[in-house]
Amino acid sequence: MTDMPHSLATAEPVDNLTVMGGGLVGCLLALYLTRHGHAVELFERRPDIRGNGPVEGRSINLALSDRGWRALEGVGIAEAVREVAIPMHGRVMHDVQGNLTYQPYGQAGQSIYSVSRAGLNRRMLDLVEQEPTITLHFNQQCRRVDTRRQELEVLDTETQQARVVPYRRLFGVDGAYSAVRSALQRTDRFNYSQEYLNYGYKELTIEAAPGGQWAIEKHALHIWPRGQYMMIALPNLDGSFNCTLFFPYEGPESFAALQTPEQVTAFFDRVFPDALPLMPQLATEFFDNPTASLVTIRCFPWTLQDQVLLLGDAAHAIVPFYGQGMNAGFEDCTVLNELLHRFGPDWARVFQEFESQRKPNTDAMADLAVYNFREMRDRVADPRFLLQKKIESKLSAQYPDKWLPLYSQVTFSNLPYAEAWANGQAQEEIMQRLMPHIQTEEDYQRPEVQQLVAAEMARRP
Ligand code: FAD
Repeated sequence: MTDMPHSLATAEPVDNLTVMGGGLVGCLLALYLTRHGHAVELFERRPDIRGNGPVEGRSINLALSDRGWRALEGVGIAEAVREVAIPMHGRVMHDVQGNLTYQPYGQAGQSIYSVSRAGLNRRMLDLVEQEPTITLHFNQQCRRVDTRRQELEVLDTETQQARVVPYRRLFGVDGAYSAVRSALQRTDRFNYSQEYLNYGYKELTIEAAPGGQWAIEKHALHIWPRGQYMMIALPNLDGSFNCTLFFPYEGPESFAALQTPEQVTAFFDRVFPDALPLMPQLATEFFDNPTASLVTIRCFPWTLQDQVLLLGDAAHAIVPFYGQGMNAGFEDCTVLNELLHRFGPDWARVFQEFESQRKPNTDAMADLAVYNFREMRDRVADPRFLLQKKIESKLSAQYPDKWLPLYSQVTFSNLPYAEAWANGQAQEEIMQRLMPHIQTEEDYQRPEVQQLVAAEMARRP
């Protein structure tokens, strides 16, 4: 997009803004705000991750899809990211015998992309640093926000010195455990809920094959669905794969039940036999890497007058099963950018429009993420479900104007999440009516099935 009022280093900034959190969404937000002529002070708790020290925090790969790409394109950085992204055209399911089933994600040419979180964050920090109107402050942890005085208490994590920093307008993009949100929680009529799954996750590695090759299909997201738990793997540029095991905290098959390297190896040998030989570091990684929790956080309002706005995980943290958390946070930036174009620096209007537009959509996305957790965990291994997916693609091919699969609406479109979710539920009801008449893929062509399909489609808008 080139229609933005690019700021000029010499011009007076329209407004002085404070962004708390230099993660993925915070960096992108700062880039957008500066393009509207504002000066931005960006505070980040961690040291500069581009330094030589160990990279703190989550090292996982993320799936980037259309909403994310659109937001990156909006500040002209999509091409730079594309160079380090690996397209994944579909899911490869691994059963207990090691048999593989392939399910494309969308139409030919549609893919989601595996990107390294740390790599993407580093690249975005480089771009942020090039902007003369953004000032970056690392090792600065927000400890408290005094919303009445409009002051932040910031701790320098290197010197352990705390200081008070005044703000005029504060953007809280400090993640799921946001300090800015904590301050809003103490304001009147602020709603807040957090819900944990009984599952945790652990990152593991499939090593590169000799010569830096990929030991399993490179251009796919791999899933080992096992009913009550599952493992997924996303490709890295160096031939390895980042695996994530989603596993109950307690129970007969759980983190609690695996206490020794022998137990871990025996368990993987039994349930993920084709993956085990590709994971030589398994026993070490299993005990060295932390077990992290999975939470959905909802809150409202996201604003305090025209002074504070929450975006990204700080406003709406979701479980990762649709691969949409970052994409949704990036889409926040797209929406805010559109509102800044419409209303200029009328912040009260911009903030209010933003939260009323976004909240129903991120709530729908939170529901979709939990829904997809159940689908990936329980249903992708079920032959009836796989048949249903095949029939849905036939329907979509036959009636492209009336039927876009839910996954495509979420992943390969910019349709508001709430609309996608409502459409998806209506489509599932239709499938529940059709599937009793369908036992094989060929049944779809039977005249009586075609008649039922035509009648259903005639009722759709
Ligand atoms: P964060 O990435 O959490 O960044 C917040 C930043 O604020 C951090 O840099 C942090 O250091 C800083 N900060 C925090 N507190 C303070 C403070 N007090 N003071 C100063 N700075 C502070 N999303 C996808 O789109 N696709 C995926 O495939 C995907 N997979 C995921 C897999 C897992 C296992 C998980 C857990 C999440 C996944 N997500 C995925 C979600 C995605 O990681 C988040 O939605 C995204 O990182 C949110 O970005 P953010 O900038 O809002 O928050």
